[in-house]
Amino acid sequence: MRSKTKMVHGGITQDEQTGAVSVPIYQVSTFKQDGVGNLRGYEYARTGNPTRHALETVIANLENGSHGFAFGSGMAAISTIMLLLKAGDHVIITDDVYGGSFRLMTKVLKKFKLDHTFIDTTKPETVQNAIQKNTKAIFIETPTNPLLKITDIKKMAEIAKEHQLLLIVDNTFATPYWQQPLDLGAHIVVHSATKYIGGHSDVVAGLVAVQSDELADRIHFLQNSVGAVLGPQDSWLLMRGIKTLALRMEQIENNSKEIVDYLINHDNVKSVYYPGIKTHPGHQIAKQQSTGFGGMISFDVGSGELAENILKEIKYFTLAESLGAVESLISIPAKMTHASIPYDRRMELGITDGLIRISVGIEDVRDLMEDLDQAIGN
Ligand SMILES: *Cc1c(COP(=O)(O)O)cnc(C)c1O
Repeated sequence: MRSKTKMVHGGITQDEQTGAVSVPIYQVSTFKQDGVGNLRGYEYARTGNPTRHALETVIANLENGSHGFAFGSGMAAISTIMLLLKAGDHVIITDDVYGGSFRLMTKVLKKFKLDHTFIDTTKPETVQNAIQKNTKAIFIETPTNPLLKITDIKKMAEIAKEHQLLLIVDNTFATPYWQQPLDLGAHIVVHSATKYIGGHSDVVAGLVAVQSDELADRIHFLQNSVGAVLGPQDSWLLMRGIKTLALRMEQIENNSKEIVDYLINHDNVKSVYYPGIKTHPGHQIAKQQSTGFGGMISFDVGSGELAENILKEIKYFTLAESLGAVESLISIPAKMTHASIPYDRRMELGITDGLIRISVGIEDVRDLMEDLDQAIGN
């Protein structure tokens, strides 16, 4: 089955009993046993729920994995995955990871003696050099936020294999439609399904996929033990979102290409960050490991004042955090998502006050460009 078909037919797509063509929302917490311990597949809904199970089957399929897991948020998914490790272990992690992942490592897991090093994973030799005796995992995000840095997943998989490390990939920005890390050698894929997979700014959720049965058993044990599971209603909303993921990603990609071309040629725009641009440092790797470049674009207009003015004038781009929805969103990372990062560190990373990030939606691109044009000025 090809990717677009999988999004429609790839999971458990109907109700056996009634023939309903969407999986019902099993709003239930416990299941009747026909005799003590004689189950019909489900016993208690933290352990397993049919609606959630249908979603878990689709994400496994989309990522070319064997098992999927659904959690109450992207952070619930990442937290649960990190619990595969133990006190005294060390994790290598992309230096510009999502802020929530940064906070989890530095403010929560550090207290439990899970050690970490943040490094620029776009350079495989720095990853190699950061490996310690107690290193057990590499956690990468690619592309990253907001500068769309690209890490070579295959290279990371080689390093992980050589040192017997777990390779975990946060695939939120690319989505399984454009990038399948398990095929490139990753052991675990995680998603904030709140973003593209849900796609309509109406669900907070996290998804995980793996290929190995042994890892799947360990993750299911943790999912059930920790209990940060996704509810049936939200599971259903994600399945509905997934059915149009391919269409949305295609439209977003086409819109993004046009917007990037427009921004590159604008006098008020100093630089544009998008992996689809030939001069982007990660362009070649992005082209090898993914079939599309996505809908996240950052551009620098040179000053915080101009950036704020653009946000004031813009009409169709909603000023909001988050990304990956049908509606276009706009933000100033330095003042919003990345405000807690110290000024010097932000400058080092290139997150200037004039940097604007947009998440391109599925609107008519002519409206989006006219809107940008009136807001950016000349
Ligand atoms: C949003 C996001 C997360 C966290 O997901 P939530 O669903 O908000 O908990 C993790 N990683 C990336 C790349 C994200 O964009």
